[in-house]
Amino acid sequence: MPSPSVDFVDGVDLVDHHCHGVVRRALDRPSFEAMLTEAGAGAGVFDSQIGFAVRRWCAPVLDLPAHSSPEDYLARRAELGVDEVTRRLLGRTGTTAYLVDSGFEPEPITSPAELAGLTGTTAYEIVRLERLAEEAVLAGATATGFADEVRRLLWERTRDAVAVKSIAAYRVGLDLAPDRPSAADVVAAVEGWLASVDAGGPVRCADEVLTRFLVWEGLGRGLPLQFHVGLGDSDVDLHRCDPLLLTGLLRATEPLGVPVMLLHNYPFHRHAGYLAQVFPHVYVDVGLATHNVGRAAGQVIAETLELAPFGKFLFSSDAFGLPELYHLSASLFRRGLNDFLTGGVRAGDWSSADAARVARLIGHENARRAYRLEVPPRPAKNQGAGQG
Ligand SMILES: [Zn+2]
Repeated sequence: MPSPSVDFVDGVDLVDHHCHGVVRRALDRPSFEAMLTEAGAGAGVFDSQIGFAVRRWCAPVLDLPAHSSPEDYLARRAELGVDEVTRRLLGRTGTTAYLVDSGFEPEPITSPAELAGLTGTTAYEIVRLERLAEEAVLAGATATGFADEVRRLLWERTRDAVAVKSIAAYRVGLDLAPDRPSAADVVAAVEGWLASVDAGGPVRCADEVLTRFLVWEGLGRGLPLQFHVGLGDSDVDLHRCDPLLLTGLLRATEPLGVPVMLLHNYPFHRHAGYLAQVFPHVYVDVGLATHNVGRAAGQVIAETLELAPFGKFLFSSDAFGLPELYHLSASLFRRGLNDFLTGGVRAGDWSSADAARVARLIGHENARRAYRLEVPPRPAKNQGAGQG
């Protein structure tokens, strides 16, 4: 039996396999609250799981007592300045590598290289597939030239990237047909899209056939493919984001052997855990949920791990904009995962050695294996990322 003070996750490096950049402008209270959750408008956000978590976990990092008032917290934050706040909050996460989705920029945020530079870690880039399709159209691709142009962009943009990502959930939902669309189907779909653009419609890839084309091309590139699943911004139709809707596509793509990463998944995290169990190429996380559910994070982690193999579960923050979100995700994830492991050991069901090994798998080894990341030297000084 370990002593009650054993923490299996303390000191374990984290690889954050899905996050975004940090906003570097000063934020007033309404802007801060608006970025704290996916709700957009923010009044009242501090009276929630995540609001309480900020006061509990982030305030001490800014030299304030735990549970300081929102007013005191925001005043201290402004006093320190955003770069210092970022260095402090991210510096205490124990994250050694960030995999950055650089495709969502409603306002200027740090690039992967800037994030690495601010934190003295390594950052890798994730390339959004829908954006490649939109770039092809913006560059004047014809319906017949579209597929080749997307393939060219895919290889060009992923030269230094470690994965691709689909936001099908935001555009058409996850109820995708399993098969690769024919060339003729792609041409017809692009003709329809171009006609709508000519009529004044947006250059926004939101077509089921083109989404499947992108997914199959992305998998053909051989890099892990991330899917947004489950909760997200308020413009997502959550009822179309259950990962079970991907079952046919996962079955069809299994022979490729390319990892498919189901991101976030909440409130469908148990469904995702099942898919990770039955499909060898499927991996899951509960990013975004981890910090949104606050002190319930351990429960969400435990529910996912009811079925998900320990070698298929990853850490991610899905943090966007606020350095607080990186800090909360890491803190709450560490505590939740440790509670899960300690529970098994205390009950006499698992050995301490197995618990410690699982902490390393989930903390970073699963991500390094699935994304084929090189193991960097221990981060001490600013290594930068090199690949902006
Ligand atoms: Zn995200």
